[in-house]
Formats: sequence, C-alpha cells, structure tokens
Amino acid sequence: MCNPPDFRAGIRARSGLPSDGLTILLRQSDELPVTGLSVSQAHELSAKGKTVDESVQQLQHLSFSECLQREGACLRRDAIHTVQINLGRLCNQSCHHCHIDAGPQRTEIMSRETMMLAVEFVRCTGAGTVDVTGGAPEMNPNFRWLVQRMTSDQRHVIVRSNLTVLLEAGNEDLPEFLAKQQVEIIASLPCYTEENVDKQRGASTFMRSLEALRNLNALGYGQDDSALTLTLVYNPNGPALPPAQERLEIDYKRILGEQYGIAFNRLLTITNSPIGRFASGLRKQNEYNSYCLLLEKAFNPATLRHVMCKEQISISWDGFLYDCDFNQALGYALGNERPLRLGELSAREIVLQLIGHEITIGPHCFACTAGAGSSCQGTLQR
Ligand code: SF4
Ligand code: SF4
Repeated sequence: MCNPPDFRAGIRARSGLPSDGLTILLRQSDELPVTGLSVSQAHELSAKGKTVDESVQQLQHLSFSECLQREGACLRRDAIHTVQINLGRLCNQSCHHCHIDAGPQRTEIMSRETMMLAVEFVRCTGAGTVDVTGGAPEMNPNFRWLVQRMTSDQRHVIVRSNLTVLLEAGNEDLPEFLAKQQVEIIASLPCYTEENVDKQRGASTFMRSLEALRNLNALGYGQDDSALTLTLVYNPNGPALPPAQERLEIDYKRILGEQYGIAFNRLLTITNSPIGRFASGLRKQNEYNSYCLLLEKAFNPATLRHVMCKEQISISWDGFLYDCDFNQALGYALGNERPLRLGELSAREIVLQLIGHEITIGPHCFACTAGAGSSCQGTLQR
C-alpha cells in the first residue's frame, strides 16, 4: 500500500512477534538497524531481554556525526561513478514535498556555458552515469544538447522526469528524442491512486502522468522486450518511512497494469528529506520534530557503506559542486577555503580534490540512513 506503517510496526510485521514482547532478533541482521542500535548495543540489550520499544526509548538523542562516531565510521568519497547535474529550479509543478522549492516561477536554470564545463568535468571523472535532474530538466532550453553530448560520450544517461512535463506544448517529440538517445527515465509517481498523487503533486497530475506513461510505453519504455528502461519513484505522502521497496513494486505493477494498462521496469522508494518545502509543510503541521525523531530512531548503520554521496557528485545549475542534491538544496557547497565551482579551477584539479574528501553531513543525512536507507536509486539495503 502507498501509506506505510511506522517503523516499529514494520519490525513487528516482519518478525511476526507480538508488539508487547518483541525481542531484538540478533540472527536477522536486517532487522536490527531500524532500531538505531549498533550491533554491539543490540546484543547487550537482547542479553538483558529488552524489547524493541524499551530499547528505542533508551536511545539517546545523537547527532548524525555522533552516530557515525559510535559506529566508528567516517563518510568519504571513494570514487565518482555518477555525476548528477541539476539543470535548474524551473518546473511546471509545485509539489508539496519538493526539497528544492522548484516551480513555474523559478528562473534559475543552467546556461550552455556551464553545461559545457559540466561535460568536461564528467569526462575528467570518468563517471559512467550522468543523472540529469531539476526542477523539470526538460524545461531547460539546452536540455537536449546536454543529453546528446553525454550519450555520444557513451555515458548512461538518466533523466528524472515528473512525466507531466512531457505533455507540455513544444515537448510533443520529447519522448521520441529520449527513446532515440536510449535515455533511462526515472519518473515520479508517488502512489497508484489518483487521490494521493494529486494531493502531493497537484490536481490532475495522476491522469496526466498516466497519459505520459502510456506514450512512453508505446515507444517501448518499460516493456519486457525493450532496452528502454522506465523506473518509477515512490515517496511517502507525509511524515513516514517508505514501505519495503520490493513489496510495493509488486503492488504498483499489479494495480497500474490491471487498472490502467501501464508497464514499467522497477520501482524505487525514496525517503523524504526534511528540508525545503517538505520541511515547511511539516512545521506548519507541527510534525517536523517528530519526523526528524522518526528518522533518527530508524538510523541503520548498515546503510552507511552505501550512501550515494560516497560515489556521486552533484552539480548545481550555477556550476557549484556538492556531495548530493540535498546538500545542494541546503547550500553546503564543497571546497576547503572557497566553494568549488566549475570553470574556476580545471576539471582535473577539482576531481583530485573530491576523491577521498570527507562528506559534509547534517541532520538531514538521517533520511538516507533510516530503515532500509534511501538514495536517488531507491533503498540502500535490498
Ligand atoms: S518535486 Fe519534482 S516535479 Fe515536484 S516541484 Fe519539485 S522538481 Fe518539480
Ligand atoms: S544527505 Fe547527502 S551527504 Fe547526507 S548521507 Fe545523504 S547523500 Fe550523503
């Protein structure tokens, strides 16, 4: 189902144990992390016969940095396999959960000059994947130019599409262009019900998204016998963790297939980061603190090895470099003495500074490490 249970209910459901006597299961290592306990702490508490609820109550409020210290971990960039390029904040939608406050009134978009620097930078990193995002990246007048450059360099290109933009005037031939370029489309569809999607993303978004999906299906996207990959993205409608990705994918495939004739390849679940417009909405509802606490309590040390910032870099519309899209939204630019910006140093000098660089962390990082973990490629623990 689209509305997920809370994390303790999730543990109970998976363990099959009653809520009043749920003992931490040490043999099932994937059950442990959602408690936020280190493995040694969990062993200790289990030996004392503590239940999960009692253990969670014993958790001290720790910062993300203290959680890392407790685990003896340090987040550093190991490599750059993916470069995420944010083409700007212009978007045809204004979704409630948007962490970059994108919308139709935003004017920040990447120029062709910055794109040329980004192309050079990608070449220098040797990254195999270029992840093009926004806003609605398709609204940038140089979007097609960038995609063509990247695919002709034999990179795997991902375009993060909100789907409805594909129906906008002037974009009639855009799906064919994406198919010709063999671009992977990762598209937001935060539920398989009209009510939930429209609530989060605006009136008539669901039906328009289905229309765009049907057009993509007709071109071969999401079909078993095609190389054109269509990935859908789920994110919770409110202050909750996403449900298990694999289970939700089964529901999505069944319902979208049976009720609407839509096919797609895979579903990614993403945890909402408590920043931007989503954070403002939580504050208005007095839910910000409880959501942050939920993320903290669900801290899962096993996700630390896989957080996306370890192998990814993010470029903003104006050419600054960030550990990830969330750090970009928060303005945590990379650089020791001054923010690193394309064009101010050579691409090679920038790459040398980035490998092995310590990641800039903050409370929002708990959204990446809660439960099964979260990234632009879905959960971190499968
Ligand atoms: S969440 Fe995506 S589609 Fe919605 S406003 Fe933000 S960038 Fe646009
Ligand atoms: S928010 Fe960014 S920096 Fe923090 S863990 Fe997630 S990907 Fe890494």
